Amino acid sequence: MRGAAIIVAAGSGTRMGRPKQFLPLSGKAVCEWALDTFRGLAEIDPIVLVLSAEDVERHGPRLASERVRVVAGGETRMGSVRNGFKLIPEEVEVVAVHDGARPLVTERIIRETLEEAYESGAALPAVPVKDTLKKVTSKQLWISATPVRSSFWAAQTPQCYRREILEEALAKFSHERGATDESQLVEKAGHRVKIVPSSYENLKITTPEDLTMAQALLEERRGGLRRMAVGLGFDIHRLVAGRPLWLAGLRLEHDKGLLGHSDGDAVLHAAADAVLGALGAGEIGEMFPPEDPKIKGIPSAEIVAAVMAKLAASGAVLVHLDVALLAEEPKLKPHYGRLRESLAALFALDAGRVNLKAKSHEGLDSIGRGEAIACHAVATLELSASR
Ligand code: MG
Repeated sequence: MRGAAIIVAAGSGTRMGRPKQFLPLSGKAVCEWALDTFRGLAEIDPIVLVLSAEDVERHGPRLASERVRVVAGGETRMGSVRNGFKLIPEEVEVVAVHDGARPLVTERIIRETLEEAYESGAALPAVPVKDTLKKVTSKQLWISATPVRSSFWAAQTPQCYRREILEEALAKFSHERGATDESQLVEKAGHRVKIVPSSYENLKITTPEDLTMAQALLEERRGGLRRMAVGLGFDIHRLVAGRPLWLAGLRLEHDKGLLGHSDGDAVLHAAADAVLGALGAGEIGEMFPPEDPKIKGIPSAEIVAAVMAKLAASGAVLVHLDVALLAEEPKLKPHYGRLRESLAALFALDAGRVNLKAKSHEGLDSIGRGEAIACHAVATLELSASR
């Protein structure tokens, strides 16, 4: 089957204040979403993009290619379709006419509708109407009838036709100005048009809230909204003679070390607590109770490993770690690089996503007198996309 598409994006967009086809939507213009989806279907060539004369000048050079032809629209929708149709080569068998204000159309909807049109002559995607329809003809808004809802479908695009059927309808009703879709001309010409059940996601951007919904649906397709969580950790240990000094999983040369049940590594304790905090999973004291004899003297890297296992099981991903040490001695600046690398390795992060700094306590209080080392940590997690 040889297909072609006409994407109509020449409307004046009176209901949105300005033309909706070039409003920004999640990183590109509204009509470019559909254009890119059509580009993904190799059997569709050419794709004719019908724009207002102004937009042809503004966007034509950027969007046109051998396959994408850009042409100016007419005064009405049908005039625009006619202008687009003039660029469809003779050998094309089926033509898809799509509304540039339907950015969420999928390859599946396009393909199924094209195939149905190839089979039966004319087809369009549609969804059953959800709301009960009321017929209102009076200016005072009195209801005159309530049609049976189950027989109503809301028509979408791309409306697809065998080339000769669309050509005939466009020629026969060349003076038709008010038609809102091509199908009504094709029906009037005596052809049957078949519905292809579609998706409610294939919505039309008409009012500002449609744009909000389209944005949310596009985010969903990208794997859900990114949900972030931030956790805070803090720890302090006494600095005493006769103990090795462990910080961030490294043993540093010093004549004193941190007192604790484990190796006393205040950096790893604060950082591990920050991760648990972002997970909403309590604190390391609950996973490793200080009174448990098994934790006596264990390397704090084991605590980190247990926290990382918990993180992995949750589906969340650690994306950043920031650590602030408070220490009068030893001088830690010369060790920044190694400390950061060690943290990165233990928390499975790129080194660029770990930050560490050490501050003196200006001689104030226990930390300032060199009796203790404290550490603050902030962990940022990206939570699992499943909601
Ligand atoms: Mg501790």
